[in-house]
Amino acid sequence: MSEKSLALYGGSPVRSRLLPYGRQLLGNEEIAAVVAVLRSDWLTTGPKVSEFEADFAATVGANYAVAVSSGTAALHLMIAALRFTAGDEVIVPALTFVASANCVAYQHATPVFADVDPDTLLIDPKSVERLITPRTRAILAVDYTGAPCNYFILRELAEHYHLALLADSCHALGAYYHGRAIGSVADLTAFSLHPVKHITAGEGGVITTDNAELAQRLRILRSHGITTDYREREQRGVWEYQMVELGFNYRITDIQCALALAQLRRLPDFLQRRRAIARNYRLAFADFPELTPLAEPVNTNHAYHLYVIRLNLSRLTVGRNTIFRALRAEGIGVNVHYAPVHLHPYYQRIYHTHSGQCPIAESAASEILSLPIFPGMTDSDIADVIRAVQKVISVYTVSH
Ligand SMILES: *Cc1c(COP(=O)(O)O)cnc(C)c1O
Repeated sequence: MSEKSLALYGGSPVRSRLLPYGRQLLGNEEIAAVVAVLRSDWLTTGPKVSEFEADFAATVGANYAVAVSSGTAALHLMIAALRFTAGDEVIVPALTFVASANCVAYQHATPVFADVDPDTLLIDPKSVERLITPRTRAILAVDYTGAPCNYFILRELAEHYHLALLADSCHALGAYYHGRAIGSVADLTAFSLHPVKHITAGEGGVITTDNAELAQRLRILRSHGITTDYREREQRGVWEYQMVELGFNYRITDIQCALALAQLRRLPDFLQRRRAIARNYRLAFADFPELTPLAEPVNTNHAYHLYVIRLNLSRLTVGRNTIFRALRAEGIGVNVHYAPVHLHPYYQRIYHTHSGQCPIAESAASEILSLPIFPGMTDSDIADVIRAVQKVISVYTVSH
């Protein structure tokens, strides 16, 4: 095929309407649940928040779940609850969403960037160990794409060096590590309820933990650092409250939690669909030396928030960004997750990070492409993605 067949150069596209890389799937039950809250007494923190927290904790096998206004708020409260402050260091992977590192910076602590495993692109425990100093307080692992990190080794390191083990599992609701649900493996785990994630509340986040004291502190921090919430005071007929922490308004509403509760009931179906899409991609691309799906860790159940492929650039005549633009022109909403965090101007300016610091993350970042994956994708959507990838790759394959 010639370049002229590509939509990028005026050829006819595989699809006329852009297929996004992710989107929510809502039904009548979600709509009815939200309407019922609108007719009730409580719009913000009320019975739906508690009900959602109980169901979520049970889903991931944790003792406590605390729901907040976003995944970013969940990450921030994990750091705040542990009282990390200026001078403390938290090790985070270089290849993640900026919020995984920003939560550390919010509390004036220092994010230290670890490199990733060359096959899975998950945080590399060997890199983590090299970065541990007397100031290190925690390891913040990220279950990138929905694949669980190597928690056995990370736990060993955390115990040996007396560190907290934290997880940004915004990609990994429904994933399992050696038979244990993500959400019950680290000391504190953060999830997101953004519309592209496994289940949505519009915006929202959840922290899970087995530690009662931390759960209580998270609840206090969620609402201004105040010991009782408005509903509790109302019920007891008192007005007094005490502020015991410097907290935030990171509350989530009953409206959102009613939506999230209805979504949580559909999680098994959503996961099944994501796994089926991933299986289709894996089979379709098995004979394509020009690209490789990410290696998947053993003994885990992947949650497939993302489906990331790596381009084998030595077999292609163009770089990732041209492939990206060509696929977008074909109507396939591919994306890149992520540019390495330590290379963003803010981190270079404030934390003096630089290129060359995490070579594996940096080179992988120029090869990765996320293909659309979400529960509402039809079989014909999947076929369109596969057809578009084949079309674009065949035009740009190095001839032998
Ligand atoms: C989505 C996401 C977040 C942030 O979640 P929000 O709910 O959008 O604030 C943090 N970390 C990772 C890895 C994410 O994918």
